[in-house]
Amino acid sequence: MALAPPLPILWRMPDTIAQSLTEIRARIESATRQANRPPGSAQLVAVSKTNPVEAIEGALAAGQRLFGENRVQEAAAKFPALRATHPDLRLHLIGPLQTNKARDAVRLADVIETLDRPKLALALAEAMQKEGRRPDLLIQVNTGTEPQKAGILPAEASAFIHTCRTTLNLPIIGLMCIPPADEDPSRHFTQLAQLAREHDLNTLSMGMSGDFETAIHHGATHVRIGSAIFGARAMG
Ligand SMILES: *Cc1c(COP(=O)(O)O)cnc(C)c1O
Repeated sequence: MALAPPLPILWRMPDTIAQSLTEIRARIESATRQANRPPGSAQLVAVSKTNPVEAIEGALAAGQRLFGENRVQEAAAKFPALRATHPDLRLHLIGPLQTNKARDAVRLADVIETLDRPKLALALAEAMQKEGRRPDLLIQVNTGTEPQKAGILPAEASAFIHTCRTTLNLPIIGLMCIPPADEDPSRHFTQLAQLAREHDLNTLSMGMSGDFETAIHHGATHVRIGSAIFGARAMG
């Protein structure tokens, strides 16, 4: 008798994904309530990077509609077919974006969260003109001023936000950050929220599997959660 092929142990089964989603949604709701914020004011971006279409379908079956991917090519391979069956699906691109992928990104995404440098701002403006499509944009701020990390430096953020909005007429709706891994994220979330307030920006993407409750306390409108829903990743 032939043995069944082994299950890919890195990938969770749809039931487990549904259960994780229920737990995460409850934690988001509870954190939102504790922060005296209106129900639903912090949205869950389910980060499906490295996970197969079957895992995303599991999340869709459990009612999740908002997803995040960090690579344009991977998103292009997985999402057009899923959109065809789920027209209300929304996709955020949350990874470093090369300028030569700007057009694909503009074609694919509902929100691009990682506008992190002037050259990319120009490329996105041009891509939007060519594609006739204007996904919303978040500016990524390198709140920890980490040399290896993407993002506009805090000292340059105000000028950059201004240029993107006025000179380039880009649809900037908010800010995003990834705090240094080895620090208390609170200071970074506070700083991002303050900067957003100064510029009248309403969308704040901050908080991941390990710190989303803290982020909600500091005003996150979008939390990006991957491993707590889909399981540990081999990479990426
Ligand atoms: C992978 C990723 C996440 C999700 O991280 P988890 O710790 O798995 O929740 C969030 N934001 C960005 C930018 C990512 O690349």
